[in-house]
Amino acid sequence: MQVFFKVIYQMKVLKFGGTSVGSVESVLNVKKIVEAIDEPVIVVISALGGITDQLLYTSNMASKGDIDYMDEMDDIIVTHQVLIRDVVPKVKQKVVLQDITTMLDELENIFRGVYLIQDLSQKTSDTIVSYGERLSSCIISYVIEGAKLYDSRQFIKTIKQFNKHIVDFESTNRLIKMTFDSLPKVALVPGFISSSKESGEITNLGRGGSDYTASILAAALDASILEIWTDVDGFMTADPKIISSAYVIDKLSFTEAMELCNFGAKVIYPPTIYPVFHKNIPIQIRNTFNPDAVGTYISKGYHAGQNKSVIKGISSIDDTCLITVQGLGMVGVIGVNHRIFRTLAQNGISVFMVSQASSENNTTFAVKNEDADQAVKALNEEFSLERAQGEINDMIAEKNLATVAIVGENMKSTPGIAGKLFSTLGRAGISVIACAQGASETNISFVIKHEYLRKALNSIHDSFFLSEYKMLNLFLIGVGTVGGHLLEQIKQQQQKLMKQNGVKLNVVGIADINKMLMRREGLILETCVRDLNETGMPASLALIKDEILKMNIFNSVFIDCTASEEIAGLYETLLNHNISVVAANKVAASSAYKNYALLKETARKRGIKYLFETNVGAGLPIINTMNNLINSGDHILKLEAVLSGTINFIFNTISEDIPLSKAIKMAVEAKYAEPDPRIDLSGTDVIRKLVILAREAGCEVEQTDVKTNLFIPPKYFDGSLEDFWKHIPELDAGFEEKRKQLAVEEKRLRFVASMHHGICQLGLVEIGIHHPFYDLEGSNNIIQITTERYHEFPMVIKGYGAGAEVTAAGVFADIISIANIR
Ligand code: ADP
Ligand code: ASP
Ligand code: MG
Repeated sequence: MQVFFKVIYQMKVLKFGGTSVGSVESVLNVKKIVEAIDEPVIVVISALGGITDQLLYTSNMASKGDIDYMDEMDDIIVTHQVLIRDVVPKVKQKVVLQDITTMLDELENIFRGVYLIQDLSQKTSDTIVSYGERLSSCIISYVIEGAKLYDSRQFIKTIKQFNKHIVDFESTNRLIKMTFDSLPKVALVPGFISSSKESGEITNLGRGGSDYTASILAAALDASILEIWTDVDGFMTADPKIISSAYVIDKLSFTEAMELCNFGAKVIYPPTIYPVFHKNIPIQIRNTFNPDAVGTYISKGYHAGQNKSVIKGISSIDDTCLITVQGLGMVGVIGVNHRIFRTLAQNGISVFMVSQASSENNTTFAVKNEDADQAVKALNEEFSLERAQGEINDMIAEKNLATVAIVGENMKSTPGIAGKLFSTLGRAGISVIACAQGASETNISFVIKHEYLRKALNSIHDSFFLSEYKMLNLFLIGVGTVGGHLLEQIKQQQQKLMKQNGVKLNVVGIADINKMLMRREGLILETCVRDLNETGMPASLALIKDEILKMNIFNSVFIDCTASEEIAGLYETLLNHNISVVAANKVAASSAYKNYALLKETARKRGIKYLFETNVGAGLPIINTMNNLINSGDHILKLEAVLSGTINFIFNTISEDIPLSKAIKMAVEAKYAEPDPRIDLSGTDVIRKLVILAREAGCEVEQTDVKTNLFIPPKYFDGSLEDFWKHIPELDAGFEEKRKQLAVEEKRLRFVASMHHGICQLGLVEIGIHHPFYDLEGSNNIIQITTERYHEFPMVIKGYGAGAEVTAAGVFADIISIANIR
C-alpha cells in the first residue's frame, strides 16, 4: 500500500543520469542512496547508460533499410532483461518483465515500420527515443522500496518555437503542482520525455534533458535542493576524461555553472540552471559511485576558488563552425547584425559565440557544424542584394574547429588574465582564430583548430590551476649509455620531483635509429627500454618526427642523446612546433653559425627552450653560468679551457716510464679515447666545444675560424690506424725530452682552447705551477672565465668532463630548468 505525504515542508529532487543506471553495481548504489533518505523525494531517472544513443543509431539503420537494425534491437532487449534479472527482487521479476515486454514489443513494431517505409520523421524518432526513459524508470520503480512511477508526459508540456520543442512553463508548473499535491515516499519520474501541449504527441527536452526535467520539478515544487547524481565527484576544473589532473570545484555560482556547461561541460544540461536559479534552489553534484564525496555546491553569489585560481574552470565545444559575414559595405550600416541574427533565429540555428571587430568590417559567429550549411544558405539569401552589388562578400564557413572557454566570476576586473591565456596558447604553438569576451568578464572564449583542442585544454589547465603537479612530456631519442642513465635517473627522481617540486616528468616516447615506442599517457620506465626492443614500432627519421608532431602534446621536450647529424636536423621543425629541445648531441650547436642562430632565435620567439649544456664539459654548469653572467650585464672577455678529458689524461700519464705512444694506448684501453684515438688527438671535438662556448659568449665564429696548433703532425693522421700505431712511437723521445725540461721549470703541458677578443685558438700550452690548470687531475675539464666583473680573479669551473652518468645528469638539469620556466 502506498503512503502519501502532504507536501508541507520542502522536499528534495534527485536526478540519476544514464551513467548511474548503466550497471548492476550502479543501480544498487541508487537504491541505497534513495532508501537512506527519510523525507519524501522525487527521483528522476535517465535511460540506461548508452541506450539513447543506441535507440537513435538503430532508428537510423532501420530508416536506411539496414536489416541489421534487428541485432541492435535484440541487444537493447537483452540489456534490459539482464538488468532486471540482476537487480529486481525475484518475486517482482515476472511483473516487470511483463511491463517491459509490452513496451519492447511496441518499440520493435515501430522499428519494423521505419524499416519497411524507410522513413524516419521527427515525431517517430521522438517516440522511439522516449522508450529509453520509460523502460529504465519502470525497472527502477521495482528496485527502490516504496517507489511510485509517474509518467512525465502527463505534466511536462512543450510547445514549438523555431522548429524546436520548448517547455511551456505555464501548463507544466500547473500540472506538476496538481500531480504532486501529495507525495509518495519516492516519486519516480522518467527524465527527458515530455509531450506536446497542443497535440499530446511525445516530445523531449533535448539530449541530456533529464537534468532539465529534475530542475523543472524542483522549481515548480520549491524543493530545498536539486541533487544531480552522476559518475564523477563533482563539477571539475575541466573534463577529467581529457585532463587527468582536473580536480573537483567545491563551490560555483549559478553564473559560473551556466558558463561552464554552456561551453560543453557535460555534467549539467545548460537549460537546467535557469529554473532553479530563478527560485534560488541550490544544485549539488554528487557521485553515485562515491556517495561520501561532498561534490560541488552551486548557488547564488560568488565563492572564491579553493585554490586561489582566478578562473574556476575550462570547458570546450568540440563541434564548431565559424561563419564570417564580411564586406566593406557593412561598415557603419545600421541593422546588419539584426538581419544576421534574425535570419539565424528564423532557421532555428543557435549561435554560441559572436565576435565583431570595432571596424565593423565583419561579424564572425560560431555554430555547430551540422547547422553550418543551412546558415550559409540562409544568409546568402538574406544578403543576396548586397552580394550582387559587391557590398557584402559570400559567406565564409570554416568547419571542424573547437571552442574553448575559461570561466570564473573572479576574472572580473582582475587584469592580465587574457594576457596569460593568450601567451599560454602562444607558447604551446596554438593560433587563435577568433575570440570573445563579454562585458560581464566571467568568460573568455576562443576558437582554435580542432586538432589543438586537447593541447589547448592541457596547457591552460597547467597554467591557471595549482594542480598537484606540472607535467612535462618527454621524447627521448638515443637510449644508449647517456640515454639509459637518464631514464634511470628520471625513474629515481620522479616521485621526489612530484612531491617537492610539483613537476611530473612523463616520458611519452623513446626511440633509437631502428625502433620507437610512443604512448601519450606515459611509458613505464622500469620496462620501456626492453619494451622498445620487443614491441617498438619500426622507426625512421621521418616516422619519429611525424609521430611526435601527431601526438601534438603540450609542454613537450625532445631530448637528443645521439651524436647523429640527421636527428640534429629535426630541431628546427620541432622548435617550430613549440617543442623544446635538450641536446647532448653537439652537431647542431657547432654547425654553421646561421643554423645555430636560427635555432636559438626560433626557441626565443616561441617562448620555449633549446638547451645544450652538456655539449661542453658534460655535466659541468658552464654554458648556464656564462648565460647568467651575460644576462646580468657582465661581459665575457676571455675564455681558457681544457676541454678534452682524453688529452688531459694522456699528458697526466706521460712519465719517465710511460712514453706518449703508451699513454695514448692507455687512454684507448681505459675507454677515455675513441677506439681510433686520432678523433680525439685531431682536436675536432674540442674545436666544436670551443665554437659553442665562443658563440654563447657572443662571438659569431665558425669551426674554420679556430686556429689550431696540433701537437701531432698532420702526417700521422693520413694513413690507416695501423700505420698510426706503427709510427707514433717516433714522437716519444721528443716528448720525453720536453717533459723533462718542463719538469725542471715546474711546468706541465695542457691542451688549451681559448677565446680572447673573439679569436679562438687551440694548442699545447706550457702551464706554470701557479696556474689553475697545472693540477688538473685525470681526465677532468676546467674552464677559466675572465669577465668585466671577474677580472683580477677569473671564475673557474672544474670537474668531470666526460662520462655517461654526469652527462645524463647535465641533460636532466636542462630538463628541470624547462619545467621551472613554466
Ligand atoms: P549523466 O549520464 O550522469 O548525465 P554525463 O555523461 O551527461 O552524465 O555527464 C558526466 C560526464 O561529464 C563525466 O563523466 C565527465 O566525463 C564529463 N565532464 C565534462 N566536463 C566536465 C567537468 N568540467 N567536470 C566533470 N565532468 C565533466
Ligand atoms: N537519455 C537522454 C540522453 O542520453 C537524457 C539524459 O540522459 O539526460 O540524452
Ligand atoms: Mg547528462
